[in-house]
Amino acid sequence: MEIDYAKIGLKVGLEIHQQLNTTAKLFCSCKPELFKEAPEIVFLRRLRPTQSELGQVDPAAYFEFQKGVRIRYEANRETSCLVEMDEEPPHPLNMEAVETVLTAALMMNAEPVDEVHVMRKTVIDGSNTTGFQRTCVIALDGCIKVGAKRIPIQHASLEEDAARKTGDEEGGKVIRYRIDRLGIPLVEVATAPVINSPAEAQEVALAIGKILRDTGRVMRGLGTIRQDLNVSIPNGALVEIKGVQELELISRVVEYEVQRQLNLISISEELKKKKMEAAAINEEFVDVTDVFKQTKCKVIQKALEKHQNVKAVKLPKFKGLLKRELMPNFRLGTEMADRARFWGRVGGIFHTDEMPAYGVAAEEVEALRKAVNASEEDAVVFVADAPENVADALRAVVERAREALSGVPAETRAANADGTTRYMRPRPGAARMYPETDIPPSLITNAFVRRVRQNLPEPAEKKLERLMKEYSLNEKLAKQIADSEHSVLFEVIVKESGVSATTVAAFLTETLKALKRDGVQTEKVSEEQIKEIFRRVGSGELAKEAVADVFGWLSKHESKSLRDAMNALGLKMFSKQELEALVDRVIATNKQSVEKLGKNAFGMLMGLVMKEVRGKASPDDVGTLIREKLK
Ligand SMILES: [Zn+2]
Repeated sequence: MEIDYAKIGLKVGLEIHQQLNTTAKLFCSCKPELFKEAPEIVFLRRLRPTQSELGQVDPAAYFEFQKGVRIRYEANRETSCLVEMDEEPPHPLNMEAVETVLTAALMMNAEPVDEVHVMRKTVIDGSNTTGFQRTCVIALDGCIKVGAKRIPIQHASLEEDAARKTGDEEGGKVIRYRIDRLGIPLVEVATAPVINSPAEAQEVALAIGKILRDTGRVMRGLGTIRQDLNVSIPNGALVEIKGVQELELISRVVEYEVQRQLNLISISEELKKKKMEAAAINEEFVDVTDVFKQTKCKVIQKALEKHQNVKAVKLPKFKGLLKRELMPNFRLGTEMADRARFWGRVGGIFHTDEMPAYGVAAEEVEALRKAVNASEEDAVVFVADAPENVADALRAVVERAREALSGVPAETRAANADGTTRYMRPRPGAARMYPETDIPPSLITNAFVRRVRQNLPEPAEKKLERLMKEYSLNEKLAKQIADSEHSVLFEVIVKESGVSATTVAAFLTETLKALKRDGVQTEKVSEEQIKEIFRRVGSGELAKEAVADVFGWLSKHESKSLRDAMNALGLKMFSKQELEALVDRVIATNKQSVEKLGKNAFGMLMGLVMKEVRGKASPDDVGTLIREKLK
């Protein structure tokens, strides 16, 4: 179905978060890195229950829900200290990070604030050991142009990243977080909600991503960038979608969310036509354990073995609606299951729209319908689990069913890798912020702003033009270099090595990409080493054909030198004499053909000699020598 987004009044706002490539974290001097090994330090804390930030959900219920949850934090000494563990106050704000955000902000024409005030924003999920996230506005009211359209930038802020969730235990009662990521500086850029189509949302995100990259001081790679989207349509609701990890996924996420909202709106219209009212959906949970005494359904069997029970609730006039697809492979029933999982800590729900299935027999469905007194038009949802979980899960199902009458619930959702989304939590009210009393405000002086403004990175288009002109690169290579993280390195290498710009550019873009694809850990070779490789190429000690091999070897032997690499690979270059002797020998063994072909023997000889000396002599030198000999 083709959707006319302008006509339906779609509005999208973006929040782009990207990690900064600083030498230390935001409020301490720990390394801003993640670790893969087993943790050196583990500590357990209770989740701090909070009654704020609850939106439309019953605060008392949410408080109770959080009360039993404990958090297991994992750390190592290199990436965490007492600050991350909330055992020591934060150190002064990292000004290197402030400068980077200021740089990006000025590139987006934003107005710097005079004083940076660190604020605390309540966090309810345990991802911050303190119970809040620290954040500070660096600049306000910017704007960028995307195509012909002016996109207002509401603010550019500096935030601390949260701990990363690595799993949970005991049915969600213990959540595991690694605090290595906690405190890594993030830039946050928020646009006004002026975006009107999925494609435009993606374009704007790419434009902002590019500006951040142009600062040269943001981290690269999956997990370093996260987008949050605010999506709304008239008669729908404002839905916040968190954690889209790839810029390329944004248009699909928006597209699916619009589909979901339109389908929910049409479901609510159908229910209204049937004269359904919220009051008709009752929290009457009927124990139907007996119905399933002999069941072949594995999930229910397992629950009964643990002496848990099965309870059901009737959703009047919902028959057929639970299997209605809202977005690909995602139905109204899926939304109810998400809610039940979240609030009831259950594995999932069963409903009659998908019955008989999962080993539940037709007779059992009949008995179930009878037990809850369901008519032909009604749907029945049932859950098998511990009694308190069953009750919480069914309550969440009833709440979601009631919301279906009014259309789209305002909520916070999390992005899945395929572009669909899942329920995350109720949408909080206005973000509650309060001042961080442990950190005094930092000044952004005029002199500071002036210095940053004078050193702003070259805008991307200008840079592209200059690279093509100054280095005679073709447009494709120039674009790749301008976009790459090595654009500064490129210019340094060309200037100091004298190697042709095209050779250096092709290596830093295409060759590195190919090596990475082949599993070479390209980040293990330092910029210094790359520079040295090209210095040797420039001086004729190393053939440019051997650069990739040398690079690959160095990536596997971290503490070794370039000299070691060349020795190990047998890449000693031929001396002039050795090369001459070789050329003489090749000519002698092919005497007849050479005499027959005369000057036209060049190509043949070149091929034969290069076969023996590839990587050990430059083709230019070989060519010159052969030409001399042929005379
Ligand atoms: Zn630290």
